[in-house]
Amino acid sequence: MRPNEINWSQLGFGYMKADWRFRSFWKDGKWDEGGLFDNDRITISEASTSLHYGQECFEGLKAYTAKDGSIHLFRPDENAKRMQATCDRILMPHYETEKFIEACKEVVRANREWVPPYGYGATLYMRPYMIGIGDNIGVKPAPEYLFSVFCMPVGAYFKAGLAPVKFIVTDYDRAAPHGTGAAKVGGNYAGSLMPHELAAKQGYADCIYLDPETHTKIEEVGAANFFGITHDGVFVTPKSPSILPSITKFSLIQIARDYLGMKVEERDVFVDNLDEFAEAGACGTAAVITPIASITYKGKEKVFFSETEVGPVTRKLYDTLTGIQFGEIEAPEGWIFKVD
Ligand SMILES: *Cc1c(COP(=O)(O)O)cnc(C)c1O
Repeated sequence: MRPNEINWSQLGFGYMKADWRFRSFWKDGKWDEGGLFDNDRITISEASTSLHYGQECFEGLKAYTAKDGSIHLFRPDENAKRMQATCDRILMPHYETEKFIEACKEVVRANREWVPPYGYGATLYMRPYMIGIGDNIGVKPAPEYLFSVFCMPVGAYFKAGLAPVKFIVTDYDRAAPHGTGAAKVGGNYAGSLMPHELAAKQGYADCIYLDPETHTKIEEVGAANFFGITHDGVFVTPKSPSILPSITKFSLIQIARDYLGMKVEERDVFVDNLDEFAEAGACGTAAVITPIASITYKGKEKVFFSETEVGPVTRKLYDTLTGIQFGEIEAPEGWIFKVD
């Protein structure tokens, strides 16, 4: 597939091999300069810690073609900092913020033809990751690391406009009370595949995870954060040390407060008190916002705004955030990083 063969309006969310990816290797206590590679395959030791002990982490962000035709990244400094926090948790070396942003920019520049044009809601999805590599067999940090950024064009998640979807609460946990829930590590994901499949087989989009300690509070909606809008218009999102700190969520908090003049609360969200919400949604980089039609818990289905229509506040949040991301609405200072 070449960029000129892509139908930007029909593009889904799937892997596509773009021309260039950035790679840097860590050895003897330091990162090499790094550079662009055209080969999409990597050859690593069969004894790499990333293969056996899950010493691996990743990030996800997007490059956008703005209304004025320029290309930019959305808050890549936040992804860099989150990756560093994740690295601290699983004893991997930091990849410095400035270098992280420059690596992302380099990948965008090298793959310029793959960046979707403005007007289709499509973007260039960027996947930075770090893995432990090198010869090792005991359980200990790897002797060497690979940091890489690759990319692919992805379509707008909702082609026909925002559509609410149904979720079901699972009995399984995605994280342990003092585990790695707040770190963006692959290890959190392997265990989520089965609960996701169980939910999907029952006709739900995904499952909702409760807090692993008491199983009474909402933590995550699949691999996205939760928010609810109360009947008197307060933006509420759960606070817990085992939730992955979503950059989309923190952006929506600021938008709710500063652009929409709403009150914001980060606090416990009890699964048996969902009647407090008029609207609910899931948020993350991939879909931005997924409106929640209903949540099924212990056999009872709680419908929010509507099973088919998106609520007015969810719509405003979505329109404002995507408007900022595509350069149609002025962004708060420091959110947009131009790629020249
Ligand atoms: C990446 C991720 C999110 C969303 O984070 P964003 O920064 O908004 O993309 C939410 N939950 C989990 C478990 C994640 O891995």
